[in-house]
Amino acid sequence: MVAPLNPCELEIDLFCRGVRIDRSCSLEEDARVFRRTRAGLGSGLELVLPGGLKDIWMNAPVEEDFAQASPYRLVKEGARYLLLDERNSLRYPVRIPPEPAWYERRTTLGTPMQDVGVLQGTYLGIYISNSCGYWWMRGEGREALNCAFCTTGYNVGVNERVDKAVEDVVEVAAAAKAEGCTFTHFNTGFHGGRDLEMVAPYVAAVKERVGQLVGVQALPARPADYWKYDWLLDLGANHFSFCWEFQHPDWFARLCPGKRATLGQDAFFRALEYCQRKMPKGACSGEIIAGVEPIEWTLRAIDYITDLGAFPTVCIFRPCIGSDMEHVPSPRSEDMIGVMRHMYEACRRKGIPIGAAPNIEVSLIVQPDDARYLAPRDLRFWAQEARSWVVRRLAAPVFARELRPRAPKADPLHPPRPRPAAA
Ligand code: SF4
Repeated sequence: MVAPLNPCELEIDLFCRGVRIDRSCSLEEDARVFRRTRAGLGSGLELVLPGGLKDIWMNAPVEEDFAQASPYRLVKEGARYLLLDERNSLRYPVRIPPEPAWYERRTTLGTPMQDVGVLQGTYLGIYISNSCGYWWMRGEGREALNCAFCTTGYNVGVNERVDKAVEDVVEVAAAAKAEGCTFTHFNTGFHGGRDLEMVAPYVAAVKERVGQLVGVQALPARPADYWKYDWLLDLGANHFSFCWEFQHPDWFARLCPGKRATLGQDAFFRALEYCQRKMPKGACSGEIIAGVEPIEWTLRAIDYITDLGAFPTVCIFRPCIGSDMEHVPSPRSEDMIGVMRHMYEACRRKGIPIGAAPNIEVSLIVQPDDARYLAPRDLRFWAQEARSWVVRRLAAPVFARELRPRAPKADPLHPPRPRPAAA
């Protein structure tokens, strides 16, 4: 008899194989609308996989070609949803998180709230403005400089509003917080070096008027502009993430041509090192995609990130419809299980806190605390569980303070140093 997968093995297999939706399902009533937003990763079906250590939130691919051949079929029996694995007839109960009530509302300015931000798991993701410049820049061969796995150029402004008013963002963040959301994450795309100035008013407004943890994902600043990170910290930013996606320089150059042409891979490393030095362990993250470059380079990236005391954010490659890599096969589950086990072990060995922040479940990735399911249940495992419990208790009052609205220590509209000339 085939043994059932544990929740993290199932999560990984679903990321790699996708899900087919049976006709018995009534997702239009039960599920969050599929939103093709940002880089395209959130375009699938939000699922919760229940488990003993924790429930796992994930965004399962449903639209892509590979998902049409998936052995997994989502079926509804009575009021319950199940994943049926047709290879072996195993059945996995799952939950479908309902659409947040605020998705149906409008802001005071009349903007549909779901055009402003999207819940990815339990956090609010907001792409603040005007897509990403790499989609409009041309390289030597006249081809666009967008990252090859990305679909942002097709989504922002079509499925999301291009121009996000600070007022709209504040109202949406407040509505999400009222339903339990603790974290708003801003993503800028490439804006010629003005990215951090653009995000500053949003960070300050959410910290001051809503009171949430706030993250910023932007292209790295030049060393001469690192003062902007200090400024954003004064405005209340809690997290910076840097996405270089591929550790091998050749894969980075080939698949992220805009990042290579305008910044270079080292810019990501130096900015992460600068920010992580200033912030508590695990407050910054390095983001990579697993399943494209040789696995040893992905493992090397995880080691580098965790050596810095930063948090590894590892996406499993998804060949999103419309991206340049649409027809590249999704990776093998066995390989991805090895990567995620390595990620968990690296966090454990280097003392990176996992699962410490309250109610942050990121459905686009395998979180290090999801990967606990992959570790052997030995003494080291239980020692780590005990350490995490203590860290959570010690961190709780700090996070409680961060979740209270507070005035920024700097002016979001007037940076402490002159703005550089627009690139
Ligand atoms: S930087 Fe790359 S991944 Fe990010 S939005 Fe631009 S093209 Fe997409």
